[in-house]
Parts: sequence; C-alpha cells; structure tokens
Amino acid sequence: MPPTPTQPTVAIAGGGLAGLAAACALSDAGFRVTLFEKRPFLGGRASSYEHPGTGEVVDNCQHVLFRVCTNLVKFYEHIGVADQIRWFDQMNFIEPGGRVSVMKASPLPAPLHTAPSFLHFPFLSTTDKLAITRALIPLTLMVQKDSGQSFQQWLNAHGQTKNAVARFWHPILISALSEDLDRISVSAAAQVVRESMKTPAARHMGVPTLPLTDLYNAAGDYVRSHGGRLHCRCPLESFAADASQVRVRVRDKEGVAPEETFDYLVLALPFDALESVLPMGENSIPLREKIAHFENSPITGIHLWFDRQISDLDHAVLLDRTIQWMFHKSRLQPMRAQSENGSGPGSYIELVVSSSKTLIDKSRAEIVDLALSEVREFFPAARDANLVKSTVIKEVNATYSPRPGIDAHRPTPITAWPRVFLAGDWTATGWPATMEGAVRSGYLAAEALADASGNKGMRFLSPDMPASGLMRLFVK
Ligand SMILES: Cc1cc2nc3c(=O)[nH]c(=O)nc-3n(C[C@H](O)[C@H](O)[C@H](O)COP(=O)(O)OP(=O)(O)OC[C@H]3O[C@@H](n4cnc5c(N)ncnc54)[C@H](O)[C@@H]3O)c2cc1C
Repeated sequence: MPPTPTQPTVAIAGGGLAGLAAACALSDAGFRVTLFEKRPFLGGRASSYEHPGTGEVVDNCQHVLFRVCTNLVKFYEHIGVADQIRWFDQMNFIEPGGRVSVMKASPLPAPLHTAPSFLHFPFLSTTDKLAITRALIPLTLMVQKDSGQSFQQWLNAHGQTKNAVARFWHPILISALSEDLDRISVSAAAQVVRESMKTPAARHMGVPTLPLTDLYNAAGDYVRSHGGRLHCRCPLESFAADASQVRVRVRDKEGVAPEETFDYLVLALPFDALESVLPMGENSIPLREKIAHFENSPITGIHLWFDRQISDLDHAVLLDRTIQWMFHKSRLQPMRAQSENGSGPGSYIELVVSSSKTLIDKSRAEIVDLALSEVREFFPAARDANLVKSTVIKEVNATYSPRPGIDAHRPTPITAWPRVFLAGDWTATGWPATMEGAVRSGYLAAEALADASGNKGMRFLSPDMPASGLMRLFVK
C-alpha cells in the first residue's frame, strides 16, 4: 500500500506482542507504522528460533492461553491465525508414579462447574478440599485488593493445609504468575482465580500448533500489508520528543543509522530495556522511579526428544517435583510428529519450571538429568525410552514479579512526552505478565495515541469475557 502524504507516522520500538498489537491496531486506524525490533525475529519473549545445538526450531518456552484472554484471541483472529490454536477443555494432574486425575467442567453453573472433578481428586484429602473451598469462596466471589500481604501470608491466615498449598495453590498460581507464593500479591492471585472461574469456557486452554515466531510473523505480514515497515536487528538507541514530533535513532547493521522523524512513538519494551533508551533529564525521572520497583522472575524450559512414545497425554501438570508442566510437543504440533531418529515415532516433550530460581545456577547437564529422572517417575513408558537429544532454555528475565505493592508502580501508556506512549506486559493493564496482558497494553497505547492525535474515542480493546451462571451475581 503506497504511503499517503497525510498519514500520521508512528515508530514502534519492540516486536513482542505489545508492539505487534499496537502496530496492527494503528495500521487499521490509518497510521503509517514503522516497527524496530532488536532481535532477528518477532515475538519477543514468546518466540521460536532454530536452536544451534539440536538443529530443531524450538519455542523459547511453551506458551499457553485461556479463553478468558479475549484480546489475545481477537488478535489471533485479526491476523488470521486463530485456527492455529488447539483448545483443550480438560487439565490432567499427574502424581509421581503416574496416577492421572482430570479436571473438567460438569453441567453445573459457574463457579461450581469444576466442583465434581475437584471433589474426586484423589491427591487431596477431605481436609485439604475443605480448606481450599474456604479460600476459593472469597477469592472467586470478591475482588481482592492488594493489602500489602503476600498470597502465602493470606493462605496461612485462611487455614490452608500443607498439601492444599503444595498440590493446589502452588501448581495453579506459580504457572500463571511465575513467582513463588510468598512474592505474589493477593490481588494478582485472586485475579487469576476469579477470571478462571467466571464461566466454564474461561479455563479452556489454548496451545499453538505452530512455533511461536511462525504464529507472530502473521502480525508482521499484517502490518506490511497495510503499508507498514518492519526492521529486525534494529534496536532503538535513543529518542528526543517535542510538542510536534519525535526523533528516533536506531542501530542497524551499518552502525547507528541517521535520525528519523515520526509524529508519534510507542515504546513497547520490557522495563529493563526501556530504561536504557530514556533521555537524560527531568521528564524521565518519574518513569525511572517506577522502573526501579520492578524485578524479574525466571522460567526454564527443558526440551527432551525420546526415541519412542512416552505418553498418550498432550499435556499435564506434574505434582510434587521440580518440573511443573509437561507439553507433548510432537502431539501438539503436527509438523513434529515424525520420528527424531528415523526409526519410529518418537516423543518430543517440553517441561516447564516457572519461577525456576533453583535451576539458575545448575548446569544444563544437571537440569537434563534431574528432568529425566522426574519424567521417568511420572511416565513409566519413559523408563525404557532412550533420550535422543535435549536442550535447556533458561529465561532468566522471564516476567516481572507480581509482588505486593507493584500495581501502584505500573505506568499507564501516557508519558511526560505528549507524543510518546508506553506498552508492555509490565504496564498498567490489570493483567499479569502474559500474552493477554501484552496485547492489552498494545491496544491501550494505541487508544491513547489515537486520542492524542485527535481521533478521540477510537477503541481497540475487546470486552472481557462475560460471567455465566451464578458468577453473574458477583461479576459486574
Ligand atoms: C519462558 C516464558 C514463558 C512464558 N509463558 C507464558 C504463557 O504460557 N502464557 C502467557 O500468556 N505468557 C507467557 N509468558 C509471558 C509472555 O511471553 C510475555 O508476557 C509477553 O510475551 C510480553 O510481551 P511484550 O511485548 O510486553 O514484551 P517482549 O516480548 O519482551 O517484547 C519486547 C521486544 O522488544 C525488543 N527490544 C528490546 N530492546 C529493544 C530496543 N532497544 N529496540 C527495539 N526493540 C527492543 C525485544 O527484543 C522484544 O522483542 C512467558 C514468558 C516467558 C519468558
């Protein structure tokens, strides 16, 4: 699409979900978008690349979503990849030894829909279940404010058993928020519980059937087809903004490129990367002060290729051990169904450990040994299988810690510079650091920018998923 002279121009720094969502929304709204991404590929913290050691295209980590992620689902529809998400309506919990319990919805109205599965869980005692139910009631039915207490303190005050914490709260919340329970705010934990209980469909889990960058390249194609430009390996170095324009300086393969001028700039960067591009001077001080409150938490993905099938499950929550989730990639991604060594259909699995602080100092070989011994406890068929190859991806700065008090420091899209806007999963979206949070932040930044450009009232955010059943009485 050729540029029109009257089209306002926008530079976007960051080709993660936040930057891509903003880029698509602003392209739709008639802005001429130029996106600068530091890395050679799109997707940011949700990306895939050819791994040199294994020769395989691997995701930096398995990413899942839930139906309650309305903006992400809409984004997928918009860029034409919604059919690349496979939805699951049940969740498998496995104990060491291999016993599988299934959580699925019954015909009961929300929030009671999962009660029959929950009451049958053999890995929780009656006392555990009573304690969990007592805590679920206030978490599900009422919005919980951030009281400054950690969720672990809240659980202690609400009489949770050791088993209830280890086998229910820990697996559910650590994977959703990627942080230890004593570093999670009550409001963040309650938001996860309440959103997932709104309606039976809310907790249906979506898993991409394509590597992540293939999925998000569709957003890049969308922007290009609307006349936008995308430059990978092109980090923003600095910017200078005044009342009428923004001058940006990026680094390309030749070095620092000549300054380019745009009408607007969206900074869709992680908080630590943002800090290094902020100009010196007073305008940056409030943002720097906010950034200083943020800390990251790590997530580790362990990829194992076996010479034979080790399980007929697509995915499972693993209880009582270091590994928290198993994703059976050779079942989830049809392109992977081939044998890894040519001798028969093998299993490629990815194991995920959220808030993986205990693994950071371990070597890759130590992590693979640990994972292998745990996999063999959960999946008896893995005991006879040979490991063909493996790799470990440690994302040390995976997601910001949703600690008590942090919400007060999450910035809105509006900055001290009237033509510069912020996006990113760590900004004030009301959601934790997730793909949904990132897409919401991109749309919020696009809305603020459209307002500033005189297109008041242009809206890109999708409505939240409506509550159903009895939850309609408790969710506005
Ligand atoms: C291991 C792991 C597992 C996860 N699992 C899930 C999950 O299952 N479900 C879920 O919903 N979420 C998950 N998340 C969280 C999710 O990936 C993030 O919340 C989301 O992708 C953040 O998007 P973003 O655009 O805000 O930031 P980013 O993805 O970090 O994007 C920012 C981009 O800016 C680029 N950049 C940095 N500096 C510059 C610069 N100077 N100039 C230009 N570009 C720059 C970066 O390279 C990056 O591409 C996971 C995250 C990790 C790390």
